[in-house]
Amino acid sequence: MRMVGGHPCLDFVNTVDARVGTWGPDLLRNYDDLLAWAERVEVITPTERNELIALAVDNRLLATKALERAKVLRESLYAILRAEALQTNVPPDEVNTVQKAVVESLRKRALCEANGLFFWGWTNDGSLEAVWVRVALSAASFLAGRHLRRSVRECPGPNCGWLFLDTSKAGRRRWCSDESCGSRSRVRRFRARV
Ligand SMILES: [Zn+2]
Repeated sequence: MRMVGGHPCLDFVNTVDARVGTWGPDLLRNYDDLLAWAERVEVITPTERNELIALAVDNRLLATKALERAKVLRESLYAILRAEALQTNVPPDEVNTVQKAVVESLRKRALCEANGLFFWGWTNDGSLEAVWVRVALSAASFLAGRHLRRSVRECPGPNCGWLFLDTSKAGRRRWCSDESCGSRSRVRRFRARV
């Protein structure tokens, strides 16, 4: 799984391998895939991942439900972020879905203390729903911080449609990645010239 979105919420919507042209495959085939993804983007720690893997073994049904909930959030985030990329109207139903997830996330926020130092933690540490809960709040900060960043872009590669944030100095990034869509485009241009 390539992480080229530039923010966890963009890498999250990019867990569907192709969005435009064709759809899929969905890279989150099961709960363990969700945990593997979450660890790579540092939404959970390796220790938390191991704890959640063990918990999921004993609670397969709840783990599947948590995965489904994560995917519902993912698809709503995709619709909202794509609307930003294409400068089209934000779909209200999708905003409602994300808003509900954010409200639930905020309820799970907790002021924690360790060795006299305070930090924002979670009341649901160790819950199977930890991943989507954290992604929802991270995505909310990303959306609310629109004035501090560039607009999300959509990769124009055939059968791609991945979303990304251009953090380059020049701001001229066109492809999700130079190694995949960018290089395929160079090959196409070369063949056309030949
Ligand atoms: Zn691409």
